[in-house]
Amino acid sequence: MISLTNCSRLPARNAVAARFMSSLPIRSRGPLVGIVGSGPSAFYTAYRLLQKNPDTRIDMYERRPVPFGLVRYGVAPDHPEVKNVQNKFAEVANYPHFRFVGNVHVGKDVKLKTLAQNYDCLVLAYGASGDRVLGIPGEDLSGVLSARQIVGWYNGLPECQDVNLAMDKVRDVVIVGQGNVSLDVARMLMTPPDKLAHTDASPRFLDAMRNSTIKRITLVGRRSIEHLPCTLKELRELFAIENAAYNPFTIHPVDWDKVMKQKFDRARKRLLTFLYSKQETKSEETAGAIVWGFENELTPAQVLGDGNRAASSIRFHDNRPSSQQDKAFHELPAQLIIRSIGYKSEPLDGLETVGTHFDLKKNVIRNENGRAAAGIYTSGWLKNGPIGVIAVTMMDAFGTADKILKDWETGTSFLENSGRGWQAIEHELQHPYVTWDDWKKIELHEKTGGQRRGSHSAKFLSWEDALKAIGKLE
Ligand SMILES: Cc1cc2nc3c(=O)[nH]c(=O)nc-3n(C[C@H](O)[C@H](O)[C@H](O)COP(=O)(O)OP(=O)(O)OC[C@H]3O[C@@H](n4cnc5c(N)ncnc54)[C@H](O)[C@@H]3O)c2cc1C
Repeated sequence: MISLTNCSRLPARNAVAARFMSSLPIRSRGPLVGIVGSGPSAFYTAYRLLQKNPDTRIDMYERRPVPFGLVRYGVAPDHPEVKNVQNKFAEVANYPHFRFVGNVHVGKDVKLKTLAQNYDCLVLAYGASGDRVLGIPGEDLSGVLSARQIVGWYNGLPECQDVNLAMDKVRDVVIVGQGNVSLDVARMLMTPPDKLAHTDASPRFLDAMRNSTIKRITLVGRRSIEHLPCTLKELRELFAIENAAYNPFTIHPVDWDKVMKQKFDRARKRLLTFLYSKQETKSEETAGAIVWGFENELTPAQVLGDGNRAASSIRFHDNRPSSQQDKAFHELPAQLIIRSIGYKSEPLDGLETVGTHFDLKKNVIRNENGRAAAGIYTSGWLKNGPIGVIAVTMMDAFGTADKILKDWETGTSFLENSGRGWQAIEHELQHPYVTWDDWKKIELHEKTGGQRRGSHSAKFLSWEDALKAIGKLE
């Protein structure tokens, strides 16, 4: 088995022999693949590999006891149609050569190097678990949070349940960022909690929101409105919320005649035309509603606090070149400030031991079409950065899978390995792992719990409880 792994190094005696050799099916079996992560990029890579070469054997390692990454803990609870992609992933898990191993943190519970010694190749698909910071004074005050924390909180992610914001102390919210994640967060903060009760939103979040005193939400962007980075679907959803009133720009009113004269691609034209059509909204007509709006061409400069080290407002630099010096700052009141400027991938312990390099500027694994080193591949947000919806991640994962199979078929170097895969790793583990059947049991508990309270699912809010429920912990 191992002798098949370094075919590209075989000396070809002459060009004719080399051509002859490259036309032969060098590897007569499918690759043994270890995948790190179980989000969309992991599942779509697995799907494509198994579909194109059914002899492929796959072990998928996930640090949490449950699969699906950001589909479960990122996509908003009121977007169940997006979360349905989990059903597709479950079909992949039913392939005979597929194994899910949850509750195993690669780099901590098992070394990356150990994985590499036991698989033909590894696919690093561990996503983006960190977030970018603003790097401004006052960012450490209470009441300043990342979108990742809030998203995890409302999605029932155990490690974010301590967010527990006192929403009865919040009147003004500023969200720094205007992408789809920012709009998701704004929507979740404006939607009446009873309208979310049937979803799998965390009951702790819903309880906090029942006491919410939010009156205003402002989404702030650095660039002018032409660059608004969200999509039309998410923008429309904000306008559709009952008891929420749009308040057009106040700091830099938009010169719409000028904007609409410019040339844009079709999607952007539709987005801006839609927003333009909303300019006449009058907030006084909707008294009592939460007022929301965009402010643009502002860069965060400082968070200001009250005497208790809690955020009370945020100050911005004015980015308009014409701004006079004395008008160069603007301040918005805010007791809750959410930075939503992007998720960030982080280096995994042991990356260098398998010959890969983490690009600290771009926060991705250095790679060429998904190949990072001999036998090491990458997929999804870790490969390209934290951008792109699931459909984009899918196409990207297919690219990585195709690259693996092409390399496999053409005799490119893979990893020198024992060929034992999971058999070798199981002995390394010091604590219980979760199989696919275990996960199905967790899911059943959650669905049954959900039915009892009239919601789609009641997610476990602690890993310990999830593991206890399936008998993996005392
Ligand atoms: C807030 C938010 C909302 C979104 N909403 C939508 C939407 O409505 N529609 C849409 O199409 N797209 C949406 N997206 C985008 C979509 O979620 C991404 O395209 C997709 O999840 C990226 O997949 P991934 O596999 O690269 O990363 P992830 O989904 O993050 O998966 C990575 C997985 O790796 C695991 N992992 C991390 N480290 C380790 C380790 N050391 N060992 C083992 N496992 C590890 C993680 O636990 C996780 O399960 C949203 C994204 C965010 C952030």
